[in-house]
Amino acid sequence: MDFLRIEHIRQADPDVARAIEAEYDRQMNTLEMIASENFASEAVLEAQGCLMTNKYAEGLPGKRYYGGCTNVDVVEQLAIDRAKKLFGAEAANVQPHSGATANFCAYVAMAEFGETLLGMALPHGGHLTHGSPVNFSGKFYKFLSYGVRRDTETVDYDEVARLARENKPRIIVAGWSAYPRILDFGKFREIADEVGARFMVDMAHFSGLVAAGLHPNPVPFSDVVTSTTHKTLRGPRSGFILCKQELEAAINKSVFPHTQGGPLMHVIAAKAVAFHLAMQPEFRAYMQQVVTNAKVLGEELVRQGLRLVSGGTDTHLILVDLTPFNVSGRQAQTALEEAAITVNKNMIPFDSRKPMETSGIRIGTPALTTRGMKEAEMKQIAAWIVAVLKAIDDPAVIGRVRGEVKELCKQFPLFKKD
Ligand SMILES: *Cc1c(COP(=O)(O)O)cnc(C)c1O
Repeated sequence: MDFLRIEHIRQADPDVARAIEAEYDRQMNTLEMIASENFASEAVLEAQGCLMTNKYAEGLPGKRYYGGCTNVDVVEQLAIDRAKKLFGAEAANVQPHSGATANFCAYVAMAEFGETLLGMALPHGGHLTHGSPVNFSGKFYKFLSYGVRRDTETVDYDEVARLARENKPRIIVAGWSAYPRILDFGKFREIADEVGARFMVDMAHFSGLVAAGLHPNPVPFSDVVTSTTHKTLRGPRSGFILCKQELEAAINKSVFPHTQGGPLMHVIAAKAVAFHLAMQPEFRAYMQQVVTNAKVLGEELVRQGLRLVSGGTDTHLILVDLTPFNVSGRQAQTALEEAAITVNKNMIPFDSRKPMETSGIRIGTPALTTRGMKEAEMKQIAAWIVAVLKAIDDPAVIGRVRGEVKELCKQFPLFKKD
Protein backbone atom coordinates (compact mmCIF):
# COMPACT_ATOMS: atom_id res chain seq x y z
CA MET A 1 0.00 0.00 0.00
CA ASP A 2 2.77 2.42 -0.99
CA PHE A 3 0.26 4.91 -2.32
CA LEU A 4 -0.72 5.65 1.28
CA ARG A 5 2.77 7.14 1.76
CA ILE A 6 3.03 6.11 5.39
CA GLU A 7 6.30 4.14 5.42
CA HIS A 8 7.81 6.45 8.00
CA ILE A 9 4.73 6.36 10.18
CA ARG A 10 4.86 2.55 10.13
CA GLN A 11 8.43 2.81 11.46
CA ALA A 12 7.84 5.54 13.99
CA ASP A 13 4.33 4.82 15.21
CA PRO A 14 2.74 1.50 14.24
CA ASP A 15 -0.45 2.26 16.21
CA VAL A 16 -1.25 5.32 14.12
CA ALA A 17 -0.16 3.52 10.93
CA ARG A 18 -2.62 0.68 11.65
CA ALA A 19 -5.47 3.14 12.14
CA ILE A 20 -4.64 4.85 8.84
CA GLU A 21 -4.59 1.49 7.05
CA ALA A 22 -7.92 0.55 8.61
CA GLU A 23 -9.33 3.90 7.52
CA TYR A 24 -8.12 3.22 3.98
CA ASP A 25 -9.99 -0.12 4.10
CA ARG A 26 -13.13 1.64 5.34
CA GLN A 27 -13.00 4.35 2.67
CA MET A 28 -12.22 1.78 -0.02
CA ASN A 29 -14.93 -0.73 0.93
CA THR A 30 -17.91 1.46 1.81
CA LEU A 31 -20.15 3.70 -0.27
CA GLU A 32 -19.42 7.20 1.00
CA MET A 33 -22.63 9.17 0.54
CA ILE A 34 -22.28 11.88 3.16
CA ALA A 35 -23.03 15.00 1.13
CA SER A 36 -20.26 17.10 2.72
CA GLU A 37 -17.51 14.56 2.01
CA ASN A 38 -15.30 13.86 -0.94
CA PHE A 39 -11.98 12.17 -1.81
CA ALA A 40 -9.16 14.66 -2.25
CA SER A 41 -6.95 14.05 -5.28
CA GLU A 42 -3.46 12.66 -4.83
CA ALA A 43 -2.01 16.06 -5.79
CA VAL A 44 -4.02 17.70 -3.00
CA LEU A 45 -3.01 14.99 -0.51
CA GLU A 46 0.67 15.44 -1.38
CA ALA A 47 0.49 19.22 -1.01
CA GLN A 48 -1.32 18.87 2.31
CA GLY A 49 1.36 16.51 3.60
CA CYS A 50 4.30 18.62 2.41
CA LEU A 51 7.08 20.38 4.34
CA MET A 52 5.48 23.81 4.06
CA THR A 53 3.90 22.81 7.39
CA ASN A 54 7.25 23.84 8.90
CA LYS A 55 6.96 27.50 8.00
CA TYR A 56 5.57 30.31 10.13
CA ALA A 57 4.14 33.00 7.87
CA GLU A 58 1.96 35.36 9.91
CA GLY A 59 0.79 38.20 7.71
CA LEU A 60 0.13 38.18 3.97
CA PRO A 61 2.37 37.50 0.93
CA GLY A 62 5.05 40.22 0.77
CA LYS A 63 4.00 41.53 4.21
CA ARG A 64 5.09 38.85 6.69
CA TYR A 65 6.23 39.09 10.29
CA TYR A 66 8.92 36.42 9.77
CA GLY A 67 11.81 35.96 7.35
CA GLY A 68 12.18 33.06 4.96
CA CYS A 69 8.73 33.39 3.42
CA THR A 70 9.79 33.61 -0.26
CA ASN A 71 8.43 30.22 -1.25
CA VAL A 72 5.30 30.16 0.84
CA ASP A 73 4.57 33.63 -0.55
CA VAL A 74 4.57 32.14 -4.05
CA VAL A 75 2.09 29.48 -3.00
CA GLU A 76 -0.27 31.77 -1.10
CA GLN A 77 -0.27 34.36 -3.92
CA LEU A 78 -1.14 31.58 -6.38
CA ALA A 79 -4.00 30.46 -4.12
CA ILE A 80 -5.32 34.03 -3.81
CA ASP A 81 -5.07 34.76 -7.54
CA ARG A 82 -6.69 31.47 -8.48
CA ALA A 83 -9.55 31.87 -5.98
CA LYS A 84 -10.26 35.36 -7.37
CA LYS A 85 -10.15 34.13 -10.96
CA LEU A 86 -12.16 30.96 -10.35
CA PHE A 87 -15.05 32.85 -8.73
CA GLY A 88 -14.65 36.30 -10.30
CA ALA A 89 -13.99 37.95 -6.93
CA GLU A 90 -12.31 41.30 -6.23
CA ALA A 91 -10.44 39.99 -3.18
CA ALA A 92 -9.70 36.68 -1.45
CA ASN A 93 -8.28 35.49 1.85
CA VAL A 94 -7.20 31.84 1.74
CA GLN A 95 -6.01 31.53 5.34
CA PRO A 96 -9.16 30.45 7.26
CA HIS A 97 -8.52 27.00 8.75
CA SER A 98 -12.09 25.82 8.16
CA GLY A 99 -15.55 26.83 7.00
CA ALA A 100 -16.62 27.65 10.55
CA THR A 101 -13.59 29.90 11.05
CA ALA A 102 -14.23 31.62 7.72
CA ASN A 103 -17.76 32.45 8.91
CA PHE A 104 -16.51 33.72 12.27
CA CYS A 105 -14.02 36.00 10.50
CA ALA A 106 -16.66 37.26 8.07
CA TYR A 107 -19.14 38.13 10.83
CA VAL A 108 -16.46 39.86 12.89
CA ALA A 109 -15.43 41.97 9.89
CA MET A 110 -18.97 43.27 9.38
CA ALA A 111 -20.81 43.24 12.73
CA GLU A 112 -20.14 43.96 16.40
CA PHE A 113 -20.92 41.22 18.93
CA GLY A 114 -24.52 41.55 20.11
CA GLU A 115 -25.81 42.93 16.81
CA THR A 116 -28.65 41.30 14.88
CA LEU A 117 -27.93 38.84 12.05
CA LEU A 118 -30.37 36.81 9.94
CA GLY A 119 -29.71 33.31 8.60
CA MET A 120 -31.32 30.04 7.65
CA ALA A 121 -32.67 27.87 10.48
CA LEU A 122 -30.65 24.73 11.18
CA PRO A 123 -33.67 22.35 11.04
CA HIS A 124 -34.54 23.82 7.61
CA GLY A 125 -31.07 23.22 6.18
CA GLY A 126 -28.90 26.00 7.63
CA HIS A 127 -25.53 25.43 9.33
CA LEU A 128 -24.58 25.56 13.02
CA THR A 129 -22.59 28.73 12.32
CA HIS A 130 -25.73 30.46 11.02
CA GLY A 131 -27.05 31.16 14.50
CA SER A 132 -27.42 27.91 16.44
CA PRO A 133 -27.58 28.61 20.19
CA VAL A 134 -24.88 25.98 20.83
CA ASN A 135 -22.49 27.74 18.42
CA PHE A 136 -20.49 31.00 18.77
CA SER A 137 -22.79 32.55 16.17
CA GLY A 138 -25.85 32.14 18.38
CA LYS A 139 -23.95 33.15 21.52
CA PHE A 140 -22.12 36.26 20.26
CA TYR A 141 -24.85 37.59 17.97
CA LYS A 142 -28.59 38.02 18.12
CA PHE A 143 -29.21 35.60 15.28
CA LEU A 144 -32.71 35.39 13.79
CA SER A 145 -33.78 32.56 11.50
CA TYR A 146 -35.82 32.20 8.35
CA GLY A 147 -36.95 28.87 6.96
CA VAL A 148 -38.69 27.18 4.06
CA ARG A 149 -42.36 27.29 3.08
CA ARG A 150 -44.53 24.35 4.10
CA ASP A 151 -45.98 23.87 0.61
CA THR A 152 -42.87 24.12 -1.59
CA GLU A 153 -40.19 23.33 1.02
CA THR A 154 -38.09 26.06 -0.61
CA VAL A 155 -36.82 29.27 1.04
CA ASP A 156 -39.64 31.57 2.14
CA TYR A 157 -38.42 34.90 0.70
CA ASP A 158 -41.48 36.69 2.11
CA GLU A 159 -40.39 35.60 5.57
CA VAL A 160 -36.80 36.74 4.87
CA ALA A 161 -38.13 40.17 3.81
CA ARG A 162 -40.50 40.45 6.78
CA LEU A 163 -37.83 39.50 9.34
CA ALA A 164 -35.36 41.86 7.67
CA ARG A 165 -37.79 44.82 7.70
CA GLU A 166 -38.84 44.21 11.30
CA ASN A 167 -35.36 43.63 12.75
CA LYS A 168 -32.93 45.51 10.49
CA PRO A 169 -30.16 42.88 10.68
CA ARG A 170 -26.54 43.95 10.13
CA ILE A 171 -25.92 40.90 7.91
CA ILE A 172 -28.26 38.59 5.99
CA VAL A 173 -26.70 35.16 5.50
CA ALA A 174 -27.68 32.74 2.72
CA GLY A 175 -26.30 29.25 2.28
CA TRP A 176 -27.00 25.77 3.56
CA SER A 177 -25.79 22.34 4.58
CA ALA A 178 -28.96 20.39 3.85
CA TYR A 179 -31.04 22.03 1.14
CA PRO A 180 -31.25 20.60 -2.37
CA ARG A 181 -32.16 23.73 -4.34
CA ILE A 182 -30.50 26.76 -5.93
CA LEU A 183 -31.04 30.00 -3.98
CA ASP A 184 -32.23 33.28 -5.50
CA PHE A 185 -29.25 35.51 -4.68
CA GLY A 186 -30.84 38.47 -6.49
CA LYS A 187 -33.85 38.35 -4.20
CA PHE A 188 -31.63 38.24 -1.09
CA ARG A 189 -29.60 41.19 -2.42
CA GLU A 190 -32.77 43.23 -2.97
CA ILE A 191 -33.94 42.56 0.58
CA ALA A 192 -30.51 43.39 2.02
CA ASP A 193 -30.39 46.67 0.06
CA GLU A 194 -33.87 47.63 1.18
CA VAL A 195 -32.97 47.33 4.89
CA GLY A 196 -29.33 48.47 4.62
CA ALA A 197 -27.87 45.05 5.52
CA ARG A 198 -24.71 43.37 4.28
CA PHE A 199 -25.36 40.24 2.24
CA MET A 200 -23.15 37.21 2.81
CA VAL A 201 -23.30 33.82 1.10
CA ASP A 202 -21.84 30.70 2.67
CA MET A 203 -21.26 28.43 -0.34
CA ALA A 204 -19.45 25.73 1.70
CA HIS A 205 -21.48 22.98 0.07
CA PHE A 206 -21.94 24.19 -3.48
CA SER A 207 -18.68 26.03 -4.25
CA GLY A 208 -17.63 23.19 -6.56
CA LEU A 209 -20.82 23.61 -8.57
CA VAL A 210 -20.18 27.37 -8.80
CA ALA A 211 -16.57 26.79 -9.91
CA ALA A 212 -17.84 24.49 -12.66
CA GLY A 213 -20.44 27.02 -13.82
CA LEU A 214 -23.30 24.69 -12.91
CA HIS A 215 -24.78 26.88 -10.19
CA PRO A 216 -25.34 30.68 -10.08
CA ASN A 217 -22.26 32.48 -8.76
CA PRO A 218 -23.08 34.35 -5.53
CA VAL A 219 -20.03 36.63 -5.83
CA PRO A 220 -21.62 39.41 -7.96
CA PHE A 221 -24.57 39.61 -5.55
CA SER A 222 -22.81 39.57 -2.20
CA ASP A 223 -20.50 41.63 -0.03
CA VAL A 224 -18.76 38.53 1.27
CA VAL A 225 -18.73 34.86 0.25
CA THR A 226 -17.32 32.15 2.52
CA SER A 227 -16.63 28.53 1.67
CA THR A 228 -14.98 25.30 2.66
CA THR A 229 -12.56 23.69 0.22
CA HIS A 230 -13.10 20.01 1.05
CA LYS A 231 -16.71 19.45 -0.03
CA THR A 232 -17.73 19.66 -3.69
CA LEU A 233 -14.55 21.63 -4.44
CA ARG A 234 -12.45 18.50 -3.68
CA GLY A 235 -9.59 20.32 -1.96
CA PRO A 236 -7.99 19.96 1.48
CA ARG A 237 -10.06 20.29 4.69
CA SER A 238 -10.10 24.08 5.00
CA GLY A 239 -11.85 27.37 4.21
CA PHE A 240 -11.53 30.70 2.36
CA ILE A 241 -13.26 34.07 2.04
CA LEU A 242 -14.04 36.17 -1.04
CA CYS A 243 -15.13 39.78 -0.78
CA LYS A 244 -15.49 43.18 -2.39
CA GLN A 245 -12.35 45.34 -2.45
CA GLU A 246 -13.97 47.69 0.04
CA LEU A 247 -14.04 44.95 2.68
CA GLU A 248 -10.64 43.41 1.92
CA ALA A 249 -8.73 45.13 4.72
CA ALA A 250 -11.40 44.34 7.30
CA ILE A 251 -11.58 40.68 6.27
CA ASN A 252 -7.79 40.30 6.26
CA LYS A 253 -7.58 41.82 9.74
CA SER A 254 -10.36 39.67 11.11
CA VAL A 255 -8.54 36.50 9.95
CA PHE A 256 -5.16 37.65 11.30
CA PRO A 257 -4.45 38.95 13.91
CA HIS A 258 -8.00 38.90 15.26
CA THR A 259 -8.84 35.20 14.96
CA GLN A 260 -5.95 33.03 13.80
CA GLY A 261 -2.20 32.90 14.27
CA GLY A 262 0.14 31.41 11.67
CA PRO A 263 -1.55 30.20 8.48
CA LEU A 264 -1.28 26.49 7.58
CA MET A 265 1.00 26.94 4.58
CA HIS A 266 0.90 23.25 3.55
CA VAL A 267 -2.91 23.45 3.48
CA ILE A 268 -2.75 26.71 1.53
CA ALA A 269 -0.48 24.91 -0.98
CA ALA A 270 -3.16 22.23 -1.26
CA LYS A 271 -5.84 24.92 -1.75
CA ALA A 272 -3.78 26.43 -4.61
CA VAL A 273 -3.62 22.98 -6.23
CA ALA A 274 -7.36 22.40 -5.74
CA PHE A 275 -8.26 25.80 -7.27
CA HIS A 276 -6.03 25.00 -10.25
CA LEU A 277 -7.67 21.60 -10.74
CA ALA A 278 -11.13 23.16 -10.43
CA MET A 279 -10.34 25.38 -13.46
CA GLN A 280 -9.81 22.36 -15.72
CA PRO A 281 -12.44 20.99 -18.13
CA GLU A 282 -12.24 17.62 -16.33
CA PHE A 283 -13.54 19.27 -13.18
CA ARG A 284 -16.57 20.64 -14.96
CA ALA A 285 -17.31 17.19 -16.39
CA TYR A 286 -16.90 15.70 -12.91
CA MET A 287 -19.32 18.20 -11.33
CA GLN A 288 -21.84 17.65 -14.12
CA GLN A 289 -21.74 13.93 -13.36
CA VAL A 290 -22.18 14.67 -9.62
CA VAL A 291 -25.39 16.59 -10.37
CA THR A 292 -26.65 13.96 -12.82
CA ASN A 293 -25.94 11.21 -10.28
CA ALA A 294 -27.89 13.04 -7.56
CA LYS A 295 -30.87 13.45 -9.94
CA VAL A 296 -30.84 9.81 -11.01
CA LEU A 297 -30.49 8.57 -7.44
CA GLY A 298 -33.37 10.79 -6.31
CA GLU A 299 -35.66 9.79 -9.19
CA GLU A 300 -34.99 6.13 -8.53
CA LEU A 301 -35.80 6.45 -4.81
CA VAL A 302 -39.04 8.30 -5.65
CA ARG A 303 -39.96 5.59 -8.17
CA GLN A 304 -39.62 3.07 -5.36
CA GLY A 305 -41.93 4.97 -3.01
CA LEU A 306 -39.81 7.49 -1.06
CA ARG A 307 -40.35 11.26 -1.02
CA LEU A 308 -37.74 13.97 -1.69
CA VAL A 309 -37.89 17.25 0.20
CA SER A 310 -38.83 20.00 -2.31
CA GLY A 311 -39.61 17.25 -4.83
CA GLY A 312 -36.11 16.90 -6.24
CA THR A 313 -32.67 18.48 -6.46
CA ASP A 314 -30.64 21.08 -8.40
CA THR A 315 -27.41 20.14 -6.66
CA HIS A 316 -25.18 17.32 -5.41
CA LEU A 317 -27.50 16.20 -2.63
CA ILE A 318 -30.98 14.94 -1.93
CA LEU A 319 -32.99 15.06 1.30
CA VAL A 320 -35.06 11.91 1.59
CA ASP A 321 -38.27 11.87 3.63
CA LEU A 322 -38.54 8.35 5.05
CA THR A 323 -42.10 8.77 6.34
CA PRO A 324 -43.64 6.65 3.54
CA PHE A 325 -41.57 3.67 4.80
CA ASN A 326 -42.31 4.39 8.48
CA VAL A 327 -38.58 4.36 9.30
CA SER A 328 -36.68 7.06 11.21
CA GLY A 329 -33.48 8.70 10.02
CA ARG A 330 -31.56 7.19 12.92
CA GLN A 331 -32.77 3.67 12.08
CA ALA A 332 -31.98 4.19 8.40
CA GLN A 333 -28.48 5.52 9.09
CA THR A 334 -27.67 2.55 11.37
CA ALA A 335 -29.03 -0.12 9.01
CA LEU A 336 -27.36 1.44 5.96
CA GLU A 337 -24.05 1.67 7.81
CA GLU A 338 -24.28 -2.08 8.51
CA ALA A 339 -24.78 -2.51 4.77
CA ALA A 340 -21.59 -0.43 4.14
CA ILE A 341 -23.53 2.59 2.84
CA THR A 342 -22.66 5.78 4.76
CA VAL A 343 -25.31 8.51 4.97
CA ASN A 344 -26.44 10.82 7.76
CA LYS A 345 -29.77 11.19 9.44
CA ASN A 346 -31.19 14.66 8.86
CA MET A 347 -34.15 16.74 9.98
CA ILE A 348 -36.68 17.43 7.24
CA PRO A 349 -38.57 20.77 7.30
CA PHE A 350 -41.30 20.77 9.99
CA ASP A 351 -40.02 17.41 11.23
CA SER A 352 -42.18 15.80 13.91
CA ARG A 353 -39.22 13.76 15.19
CA LYS A 354 -36.38 15.00 17.44
CA PRO A 355 -32.90 15.89 16.03
CA MET A 356 -31.44 12.60 17.38
CA GLU A 357 -34.17 10.59 15.61
CA THR A 358 -35.24 12.64 12.52
CA SER A 359 -37.57 11.65 9.66
CA GLY A 360 -35.00 12.02 6.92
CA ILE A 361 -31.57 11.19 5.58
CA ARG A 362 -29.25 13.37 3.51
CA ILE A 363 -27.49 11.69 0.61
CA GLY A 364 -24.79 13.20 -1.58
CA THR A 365 -22.99 12.03 -4.71
CA PRO A 366 -19.63 13.97 -4.80
CA ALA A 367 -17.50 11.22 -3.23
CA LEU A 368 -18.82 8.29 -5.28
CA THR A 369 -18.60 10.34 -8.46
CA THR A 370 -14.92 11.00 -7.68
CA ARG A 371 -14.51 7.20 -7.66
CA GLY A 372 -15.98 7.13 -11.18
CA MET A 373 -19.51 5.92 -10.48
CA LYS A 374 -22.25 6.95 -12.92
CA GLU A 375 -26.00 6.55 -13.53
CA ALA A 376 -25.99 2.71 -13.60
CA GLU A 377 -24.30 2.53 -10.20
CA MET A 378 -26.72 5.12 -8.78
CA LYS A 379 -29.69 2.97 -9.82
CA GLN A 380 -28.11 -0.09 -8.24
CA ILE A 381 -27.39 1.84 -5.03
CA ALA A 382 -30.97 3.16 -4.89
CA ALA A 383 -32.21 -0.44 -5.10
CA TRP A 384 -29.89 -1.45 -2.24
CA ILE A 385 -31.01 1.51 -0.10
CA VAL A 386 -34.67 0.62 -0.61
CA ALA A 387 -33.99 -3.07 0.11
CA VAL A 388 -32.30 -2.18 3.41
CA LEU A 389 -35.01 0.31 4.43
CA LYS A 390 -37.69 -2.31 3.77
CA ALA A 391 -35.84 -4.93 5.82
CA ILE A 392 -34.45 -2.73 8.57
CA ASP A 393 -34.36 -5.60 11.10
CA ASP A 394 -33.37 -8.36 8.72
CA PRO A 395 -29.66 -9.22 9.05
CA ALA A 396 -29.84 -11.55 6.04
CA VAL A 397 -30.89 -8.77 3.65
CA ILE A 398 -28.41 -6.31 5.16
CA GLY A 399 -25.62 -8.90 4.92
CA ARG A 400 -26.42 -9.62 1.29
CA VAL A 401 -26.34 -5.92 0.40
CA ARG A 402 -23.05 -5.46 2.28
CA GLY A 403 -21.50 -8.23 0.20
CA GLU A 404 -22.72 -6.71 -3.06
CA VAL A 405 -21.52 -3.24 -2.01
CA LYS A 406 -18.02 -4.64 -1.42
CA GLU A 407 -17.99 -6.14 -4.90
CA LEU A 408 -18.98 -2.80 -6.45
CA CYS A 409 -16.34 -0.95 -4.41
CA LYS A 410 -13.61 -3.22 -5.81
CA GLN A 411 -14.46 -2.04 -9.31
CA PHE A 412 -13.95 1.63 -8.32
CA PRO A 413 -10.65 1.91 -6.41
CA LEU A 414 -9.76 5.05 -4.46
CA PHE A 415 -6.35 5.31 -6.06
CA LYS A 416 -5.60 4.55 -9.69
CA LYS A 417 -2.51 2.51 -8.76
CA ASP A 418 -4.46 -0.03 -6.67
C1 LIG B 1 -19.61 22.45 6.23
C2 LIG B 1 -20.14 23.81 6.43
C3 LIG B 1 -19.46 24.75 7.22
C4 LIG B 1 -18.34 24.41 8.14
O1 LIG B 1 -17.20 23.92 7.62
P1 LIG B 1 -16.08 23.28 8.57
O2 LIG B 1 -14.89 23.25 7.70
O3 LIG B 1 -16.59 21.95 9.00
O4 LIG B 1 -15.90 24.20 9.75
C5 LIG B 1 -19.95 26.05 7.24
N1 LIG B 1 -21.05 26.39 6.56
C6 LIG B 1 -21.75 25.50 5.83
C7 LIG B 1 -22.96 25.95 5.11
C8 LIG B 1 -21.33 24.17 5.75
O5 LIG B 1 -22.05 23.28 5.05
